[in-house]
Formats: sequence, structure tokens, C-alpha cells
Amino acid sequence: MAARTGQEIWIDDKARRAGHADGAAFALAHGLKNYRLQQLYRAATKELVADLAAVTVLPKELRASLAAEGFTFDSVEPVVVQHSNDKQTIKGLFRLHDGNEVEAVLMQHYNERNTVCISSQSGCAYACAFCSTGQAGFTRHLTPTEIFDQARYFARHLAADGRKITNIVFMGMGEPFHNYDAVMDAVRLLNDGQGFGLGHRHITISTVGIVPQIDAFADEGVQVNLAISLHAPTDDVRSSIMPVNKKWSVAELMAACERYIGKTNRKVFFEYVMLDGVNDRPHDAEALARLMRGPLHHVNIIPYNSTPDGKLGPTGDERIRAFTAILEAKGVVCTVRTPMGRDIAAACGQLRAETQPRAHIAS
Ligand code: SAH
Repeated sequence: MAARTGQEIWIDDKARRAGHADGAAFALAHGLKNYRLQQLYRAATKELVADLAAVTVLPKELRASLAAEGFTFDSVEPVVVQHSNDKQTIKGLFRLHDGNEVEAVLMQHYNERNTVCISSQSGCAYACAFCSTGQAGFTRHLTPTEIFDQARYFARHLAADGRKITNIVFMGMGEPFHNYDAVMDAVRLLNDGQGFGLGHRHITISTVGIVPQIDAFADEGVQVNLAISLHAPTDDVRSSIMPVNKKWSVAELMAACERYIGKTNRKVFFEYVMLDGVNDRPHDAEALARLMRGPLHHVNIIPYNSTPDGKLGPTGDERIRAFTAILEAKGVVCTVRTPMGRDIAAACGQLRAETQPRAHIAS
């Protein structure tokens, strides 16, 4: 079966939310020809129109009847929007129709890059020791438009002063490869030239390392970037902080990455959060360097961001420099990520929608 187009994915998802079996049933019920569906889809995803009521090319009665059954452009409602002190980072807490909540973050870099970090699930099932989302547990998968609409929110915010999203990263709440089909559909929505139109190369999916899905992703034939949350080079350390390692060992994970690189000839970004005394010793750097086999293996060092219940501590700057020096001496390509939005708990590993205090709302 051919993959659905962006329009089909969007209409199906919005139609289901409004109580129809799928997009075809929805179109039939309202007597909508394809050009009408196209008008709806383009207004929401390309023109970024505020809501259905503002799509004046559609007959008023049609807008009223669609609205009456709960057809909406936005499936996520911003309930709290916080700005970091430096104004570069904005975090949105969004409520879904069933009351569940997710967070997404806009990072506005000085070099005009506007990166949005989006969530693929409410909560997360993987329970990584250093991550706030993981410690809160799994609630449910998001649908393609619940994922897409987080980006739509920030795209509309940026469009208000003539700016655009330049990059999207699936590094918010949840494990994207645990919700694989919806995430790939969300990627189609983000990428669709008839709609949102963000290039594949500007999208990154980050995973804890679910091996079968890495193999599936290698066969997608898309130029979307792959990031792997590695965080430790050996099974004993990795299993102690990432339960997923008991299912797929470091060797199995690295073998999947080699298969991916062999098939796609694309770079893999290996994320490595620096945890004091856990994975930041010189022999950890040496073991990590042995896993990195060339220019398509890129290490992204992440300073640890504190979490409310975390028992782990951050590696100091000096030790981070010593660690990266060992990697560089061994010819490993590596960068250190600059944390953004720590003051509003918007940095990596700090997203935990349901327990955010609601008292201090800055806008
Ligand atoms: N589940 C996916 C997507 C989340 S990405 C994944 O694990 O890759 C979020 C990134 O931030 C991951 O690399 C994650 O390991 C990292 N991270 C989690 N908690 C962190 C923390 N407290 N400080 C810094 N980085 C953290």
C-alpha cells in the first residue's frame, strides 16, 4: 500500500477526532470534493490560518457544520507558555482533547536558526534514570496531528514577525520509535511540499535505541537525521541508567547503526549526557572512541540538566573538556550541546508536563 499523502494523513486524523471513521467517510458525510479538502489542509498547514472560522474561501454553513462536530485546526491547546530569562527559549505546555498534556520548546538561536523540539508521546515508557519524562511513566501515544500541531503553534508564533521554523527535533517527551507509524506520518506532514514544507534534512529523530525500528527507518529512504541516545559505551554502565539496554545491548545497537549507515550513507548523531562519576571517566571516553568508526559517527556531548527527583549529578566543565579531548585525540567528531531554557525547565530531559507548577506564568 502506498504511503498516504500529507493531506490524507491530516484529513484522516482530524476526521477521526470529529467522530468519522476516516477522511473518506468525513468527505462523504459533508459532500466535500477534493478541492475543499485541499483548501482545509492548505489553510491549516501551509497558510497557517488561525482556525477554521477564518478560512473565508469555505462557505459559512460548511464552517459552522464542521465546527459543530468538533473539527478543529489545532488538536493541542496551549495552557501555559513560559519564556526563558534570555528570551531565547519558549516552552509551551499543551493540553490534548482528553486532558493529557505534553510540552514542546522553541529555541531561537542567534544565528537565525529556530529549532522546535516536539513530543511524540504523553509520558514515556523507557524510564531512563537521568530523564524527568521517563521517571513519570507512559500515558499514551500522540496522533500525527497532535505531533504536527505543536510545530504549527510555534510556526504561527514565528510567522507573526516574518520568521520560520528552520529545524524540528523529535527530542521532547516520549520515545519516537515506540510510536513509529504516527511519527513517520508526522514527518510526512512536516515535509509535505503542498503543506508545511520543511525539508527532511532539517528534521532529526532521537531514539533510545529500539533496534527493529532503526532497521525500519533505514529502509524509509528519507533524509531525516537519526540521533541515538547512547550515553554509555559498555553494557554494565548503559544498563544501569537505561533499562532499554537489557533488551538491546550496546553491540546490538551499534550493529543496527552500522546497518543504517551502510544503507543510507548518512551520519548518525550519538548523544551522550555527562553524568558525574557514572559515564564520564577517561576509560569511558576511550571505550566510546572505539565504538565510533569514522566521519559518519558524530558524538554530541550533552551537559546534564538537573531533574527534580534525580540522584545523578552533572560532570563539571573541566571534566567535559578532558573527555572531549580524549575523543578528539582519537579522531572522533564531537560537539558539546549548549543547554537552553534551564530556568524554565525546558532543557533536554526536563520536560514533564503534568507536574509543572502553574503559578509563575511569564509571557
Ligand atoms: N526518547 C528519545 C527522545 C528524547 S530526546 C531519546 O531518548 O532519544 C531527549 C534527549 O535528551 C535524549 O538524548 C536524552 O537522553 C537526553 N536527556 C534526557 N535527560 C536529560 C538530562 N537530564 N540532561 C541532559 N540530557 C538529557
